[in-house]
Amino acid sequence: MNIDTLCIHANKIEHNPTGAVSVPIYQSATFAHPGVGQSTGYDYARLQNPTREHLEKVMAKLENGVDAMAFTTGMAATTTLMELFSPGDHIISSDDLYGGAHRLFDHISVKNGLTFDAINTSDIRLIEKHIKPNTKAIFIETPTNPMMHVTDIKKVTQLAKKHHILVIVDNTFLTPYFQKPLDLGADIVLHSGTKYLGGHNDTLAGFLVVNSTELSDKLRFIYKTTGACLAPLDSWLLIRGIKTLAIRMKTQASNAIKIANWLKTQPKIKKVYYVGLPEHPDYEISVKQATGFGAMISFHVDSEQTARDLLEKVNLIQFAESLGGVETLMTYPMLQTHADIPKEAREAKGINETLLRLSVGIEDVDDLFADLAQALK
Ligand SMILES: *Cc1c(COP(=O)(O)O)cnc(C)c1O
Repeated sequence: MNIDTLCIHANKIEHNPTGAVSVPIYQSATFAHPGVGQSTGYDYARLQNPTREHLEKVMAKLENGVDAMAFTTGMAATTTLMELFSPGDHIISSDDLYGGAHRLFDHISVKNGLTFDAINTSDIRLIEKHIKPNTKAIFIETPTNPMMHVTDIKKVTQLAKKHHILVIVDNTFLTPYFQKPLDLGADIVLHSGTKYLGGHNDTLAGFLVVNSTELSDKLRFIYKTTGACLAPLDSWLLIRGIKTLAIRMKTQASNAIKIANWLKTQPKIKKVYYVGLPEHPDYEISVKQATGFGAMISFHVDSEQTARDLLEKVNLIQFAESLGGVETLMTYPMLQTHADIPKEAREAKGINETLLRLSVGIEDVDDLFADLAQALK
């Protein structure tokens, strides 16, 4: 089945005497047993709830995984994932990750005895150089946030397999609609479901999708024990969001390439970072490993004043954190998503007072041009 169809029909509703087309919200924390030693398959909602289960089956299908777990947030998924590791373990990560992941690793995970090397994972030889006997995972985000670096997922997984290291890919930016890391050899896919999967800036969620029953068993145990499971209503909102993932991703990506090209023609815009531009240094890798380029654009403007003017003058476009929803949002990474990264490290990556990030929505693209044009005047 094509993914456009899978977004809507990936999992049939089971036990459906009414013929409901939309999966019911099972707002139940606990489930009665038919007899001693018997179970309906549901016992207590921290372990499983039918609405969440439906969502998890959809996500597993979309990512071609063995199992998917739905979390309250993307960070809850990442935190749970870190419990897979033990004191003394070493993890290699991209140096341009979502800011919250850096904060988790540097301030929380280190207390549990994990060590990290944050490096440019686009450089496979650099990854190889950092592999140590205690390296247990390579954690990549591709494209990265906000600088849009791309890592060759297949090459990383080939290297990791030689060393028996897990490969974890944060697939939030492209979603399974455009990129399927497990098919490229990754072991675990991570998502902030808050973004494109939910798609409406109204619900927080996160996912882990795994490629083996062994990883599923280990993570399910941690999941039921630590308890960051997605609530039934939020699970339902994600199911509904995913039904329109295909049309949203297509429209957002088609708007994004037009906006990226338009921004390049503007005198106050100095550099545009979008993986769909042929001049992007990682364009070829993107074409090879993804079926689309997504809708995230970063750009440098000519001065801090221009950046501030743009953020304050846009009308239709909103100045807000987050991404992936139907509304176009503009973010100031330096003050928002990446405020907790030490200044020197942040500026070395190009995240400075002139960098802005756009999450392109599904509005009519001419209305977006008009809004940007009046704000740039
Ligand atoms: C937002 C985001 C996260 C964190 O997800 P939350 O749902 O906000 O906890 C992780 N990775 C990426 C790439 C994100 O954009």
